[in-house]
Amino acid sequence: MSEEMQQIDAFIERTSGERMADYIDFLKIPSIGTLSEHDADTRRAAQFVADHLTAIGFEHVDISPTGGHPMIYADWLHAEGAPTALLYCHYDVQPVDPLDLWKRPPFEPVVENGRIYARGASDDKGNLHLQLWALRAWLETHGRLPLNVRIVFEGEEESGSDNFGPWIEANAGRLAADVAVVSDVGFYEGNHPALTVGLRGMVYTQIDVFGSRLDLHSGGFGGNVQNPANALVAILAKLRNPDGSIAVPGFYDHVRELTPRDREEFGRIPFDEKQFVADHGLAGIFGEDQFSPLERKGARPTLDINGIWSGFQGEGSKTIIPAHAHAKVSCRLVADMDPDQTYQLLADYVKSVAPEGVRVEINELNDGDWALTPIDHPATQAAAAVLEDVFGKAPYYLHEGGSIPAAATINRLLGQPLVMIGFAPPDDQAHAPNESMRLDNYEKGIAAMARYWETLATTKL
Ligand SMILES: [Zn+2]
Repeated sequence: MSEEMQQIDAFIERTSGERMADYIDFLKIPSIGTLSEHDADTRRAAQFVADHLTAIGFEHVDISPTGGHPMIYADWLHAEGAPTALLYCHYDVQPVDPLDLWKRPPFEPVVENGRIYARGASDDKGNLHLQLWALRAWLETHGRLPLNVRIVFEGEEESGSDNFGPWIEANAGRLAADVAVVSDVGFYEGNHPALTVGLRGMVYTQIDVFGSRLDLHSGGFGGNVQNPANALVAILAKLRNPDGSIAVPGFYDHVRELTPRDREEFGRIPFDEKQFVADHGLAGIFGEDQFSPLERKGARPTLDINGIWSGFQGEGSKTIIPAHAHAKVSCRLVADMDPDQTYQLLADYVKSVAPEGVRVEINELNDGDWALTPIDHPATQAAAAVLEDVFGKAPYYLHEGGSIPAAATINRLLGQPLVMIGFAPPDDQAHAPNESMRLDNYEKGIAAMARYWETLATTKL
């Protein structure tokens, strides 16, 4: 171990009391970003973090206004010749209801059984706070960081990140970096260290089928008019093949194939299919045969009907031909699919398979980007080495089926490779009552990040 790291470890040890008191103060601030009655609290959390950054030696500390809650920007750029990292976390938290399911009040943190319980303890105040202390450990023991760091902390992650993209675009001039470190993730089942390497994107659409001006009598008109509900299900039935693959021509043309290394890493991650089926009350697991369940979730696109409605749904019978029928249809996207192009393929196909006698419309409601950092990217491998060193186990590489909008936005707008590293335990109950952080993860997380900054400083990015 380097002499620097010995001093940092000693600092982490001797400051644990002070740090815990500070962590508790942070968790006491009810920064529920989505509730306007907590606007002042959310603002107070931003100030708390900004004051911290100033106190430990960060510069250009800026509580930067957006249309909603402010972004926090700060930098430390004195490591000449070393790479620059952009660090992302968020200081807002989820609402707390149902409050009666909390064993103790959500903003009165309690330490018990090696955990701290409070809203935000892990998501994401736990990660944010340990990141602050890893930076502080360097600055207080050595008066410097091993590399340049720019801070971007958000206050609207839990309420949709609406202002994030515009703010990133408007501030791109001060956000240049070689790598973006996104610390809003956690470990895998069994508290196994993990790096999130992939996120899926999204295209969300609505299909509307129109027939007559009003519902028609099915006796008077049946046999002479196309039924919009029948027409809609005919369209929907053509979207997927019986094996679950997507029938839209060209849909898979740009899907990045898994490398042998990818498949090997997917294979290392434990997944109990029986348990999965039992946990969710499923009749069975279903998907493309040639891929494992984790591969299907992380590296394959989907097409799902999210909702469908038409005609009479009340009690008893009503003999009509509905005037119109509707469905919400969305796709999860993977590398290297383009959301606009995917939407166009889907729209063209829906029109091409539409039966005669009805008017069919399709509209895009929203979309989002996927993100993927290859496992063998040097910044990923540097993080993996540090996690193995500190936690004693080689990390899993996770491909999330969902998305982290801020991460994909950074990746797309700034072109920075993402390292998604966080220390939340898998049973942290984030977003649910009795959220907690394992203090062991939190403390070792500081040691891991202090090492990661040192390792990244000498990694060829
Ligand atoms: Zn979060």
